Parts: sequence; structure tokens; C-alpha cells
Amino acid sequence: MDAIAPVVVDLSCALENPGDSLPVTGKLELEGYSSGDKAYTLDDGISYDVVLTHAGDGVLATGIVRARAAGACDRCLESATFDIAGEIEEYFLFEEPEDPEEFEDGFELVGPERTIDLSGAISDAVVMDTPFVLLCRPDCAGLCPQCGANLNEGDCGCAAASEQAWVDSDENPFAALKNLNL
Ligand SMILES: [Zn+2]
Ligand SMILES: [Zn+2]
Repeated sequence: MDAIAPVVVDLSCALENPGDSLPVTGKLELEGYSSGDKAYTLDDGISYDVVLTHAGDGVLATGIVRARAAGACDRCLESATFDIAGEIEEYFLFEEPEDPEEFEDGFELVGPERTIDLSGAISDAVVMDTPFVLLCRPDCAGLCPQCGANLNEGDCGCAAASEQAWVDSDENPFAALKNLNL
């Protein structure tokens, strides 16, 4: 996903003691996003609902992102819509750890002004919940490989025609039989 604008939360007057928590909700007014080589449009931006918790050596951000998105069906290329409800879980350390390998799931750092930027966690959650294969409907018939017609709109006739061509072709081992007069 392309980098989105920073979503900065100022913690200077919050989360002073371990266990303190701070809810953070908002909406990103984004028209769309991309993931891999695919582009998606968003109906109404990306909403996020996150709780920040002081966890001793850092701030744990957990929550959810929601969006309604649309992209091209992988079979017929028509528009297909889907709902995103992706989970956010990100750890922001107050200081660079002595042993980074201790944090297997990775971490970010709290900024020098005691701010954190949720944009990376939000875009990761959106991408994670974007379907790997997008279909306009589960039984989408796709496009005809020969003429490109959308087979959801009816049979283009190519499949029947090519079956007939094969029956008549030399590649059909039974083709010779039909001229046999037994
Ligand atoms: Zn389709
Ligand atoms: Zn066709």
C-alpha cells in the first residue's frame, strides 16, 4: 500500500503510568489505495478504532479498521465490492531496545515528542484484510478465453463451437470413424 498521511497521536498528556489507556478513533478521507499491483477504491475512507495502552516499556495499540472497498473481479474484471474489518496490533517502544530480536512481531518507536504514528499500522491492517482473490460473486463465470465476452451475461457460443471444431479435427482420434461405413 502506498504510504498514507501520518496519523499522529500526541501522548504528552496521556498514558503517564503503566496500565493507562487512551481510545483513539477517527477516519481517513482516502479515495482509494493499492496493494501489490491492484488498485481499490474506497466508498467512505477508512475508519479506525484503536485503544492505546501503556505497557511499561512501550505503548500497545490494538483495534480495528473498517472500510468498504471495491476493485476489479479477478475473473470477469467487473467491479466487486467488499468490506474490510482488519485488526490492528502494533507495539511502540519508548526507547530503542537493547535486544531487538526479543520483539519477534516487530515494533515501532514512540517519537521524541512522545507521539506515535498509526498510519503504518492502519494501512497494514487494510492490506491484510484485502482479499487475495477478489470475485464479484462466488460463482462468477469469468471471461471467455477466446472472445473475451463476460460469461455472466450469457454464453458467447465459443465453447460449443470449439467442441464441434475438435470433433471435426484431425486431433480427434475418432474423427476418421465417422466416415467409415460399416
Ligand atoms: Zn466476476
Ligand atoms: Zn467466447
